Amino acid sequence: MAEESNRKNEGLIRCDACPVLCRIREGKTGACDRYGNFGGKLVRIDPIVVVQKIKNEAGDLVKFTNSDQAWDGSIINHVPTFLTGIGSTTTYPDYKPAPFIVSTKQEGVDTVTVVSEGVFSYCGVKVKIDTDAYIGPEPAAIRVGGEQIGHVTTAEYGSQMLAIGGVRHLTGGSKKEGNITCNSMLRLCNKEPVAMTIDGGAKVVVQAGKPPIINEIQEERMRVGCGSATVGIFAPQWHHHVDEVIVVDDHITAVLSEHQAGKFLDFSATGIRVRGRRSTPGRYFQVADHGAGWGGTNITNPLEIIENIEDKHAWPGLRLLMVSTTGQDSAYYVLDNGLQPIEQEMPEAVKIVVDRIGENCEPALCSVMFMAGAGGSLRAGVTVNPVRLTRSVRKALTRVTCGGAPVYIWPGGGITLLVDVSEMPDNSFGYVPTPALVAPIEFSLSREEYIRLGGYDDRVRPLTDVIENEKVRSVPWQEDHPWPIDVTQIKTNKGS
Ligand code: SF4
Repeated sequence: MAEESNRKNEGLIRCDACPVLCRIREGKTGACDRYGNFGGKLVRIDPIVVVQKIKNEAGDLVKFTNSDQAWDGSIINHVPTFLTGIGSTTTYPDYKPAPFIVSTKQEGVDTVTVVSEGVFSYCGVKVKIDTDAYIGPEPAAIRVGGEQIGHVTTAEYGSQMLAIGGVRHLTGGSKKEGNITCNSMLRLCNKEPVAMTIDGGAKVVVQAGKPPIINEIQEERMRVGCGSATVGIFAPQWHHHVDEVIVVDDHITAVLSEHQAGKFLDFSATGIRVRGRRSTPGRYFQVADHGAGWGGTNITNPLEIIENIEDKHAWPGLRLLMVSTTGQDSAYYVLDNGLQPIEQEMPEAVKIVVDRIGENCEPALCSVMFMAGAGGSLRAGVTVNPVRLTRSVRKALTRVTCGGAPVYIWPGGGITLLVDVSEMPDNSFGYVPTPALVAPIEFSLSREEYIRLGGYDDRVRPLTDVIENEKVRSVPWQEDHPWPIDVTQIKTNKGS
């Protein structure tokens, strides 16, 4: 726990929970608003959070079984409880033991959980935006308030990706850049909306678990797949109802009659040629520029991507469907005697398949993943021999969680973790003005393993002692999460 300085000049207390070393007046808080001077004591403002299994076997809330009342955050006794790092305070410098090291007995196994609010200078946020809308080129700068906070990175299947934060923006630029980057990451991680602009691209509003807003339009659907995949999925359903389908897509535009799917279904060649670079039969790259038109292109009139219609293969009366990868844009044409496409009302059988493309699109959402390196000095708050902790995590003898939520640990050196902020309790994150993000982190393991690692066994307290003597708030455990302490794994490891 943060220690008070001996120097208390004129009612000032020095907080030494981070390198900023705020001097805080009575009744005031420090620069990060996490600590305050109340009654001459340095106090962590927020309660420490525990995760509790608050449902009985029938799935009803234990305390409010017959009530519509929302959970009020009070502790329930006698239900499985896990201490998170949220509100737990930070020890600085890190060589001091973590603020809480608690023991519990679970299924006859002595376990230890070491919790802390880690201060992460090396951290970033990866954002996945489910849309084929064009947001900007790779690796365009992403800005908030004119300052660069990250860049557009490699697009994934049906999603645009952003890399935000990182030590270079936090500490390698101007003070303003660092502060705005830290604040943007903090709001993203706490599930708040952040408006950003992309150089040469769009204005985007990102919020974890919500649809993206791109150039003031809220996205609704993630594409069903690229143009080629759309043809692959729906080709049989178009058979006999149309002679040609062109699926307009910023990445791979597909022409059904040329595509392998069309060949297998014996679609005849139609002589309708599209622009762009042919990759493989029926698959075309770069049919248009990126934009806010059909399928993430800048096309608003789909006929613009048709280069020519060869009279050697085409015929009057040929039925042509043009559609985007979300089904949001579509048009039906029939070739006239001069082989010109004339738009006509879409037959019901064709419309059903277009609607089905939309039905198969998942909702467009923003996913925000916090990524940080816990492989530095933070480990020294857990054990005097930090590399043993890294090895223990690698061998799955120690489980790492953030606010009780499961994390992914990257292979290789250090403890570099990735966690979905939507899985964490609300307002799990804080900051310090160094600038750096503050995030909860917990290490859970058997007590036997903890002693073997060189842990601070003399600082272990029973969890019940913390619950009875500290300001604690309860949040319900999410049922789709593994319980943060894996007793089965501990028993397996012990037996092996
Ligand atoms: S910024 Fe916060 S943690 Fe750091 S010294 Fe000031 S009050 Fe303490």
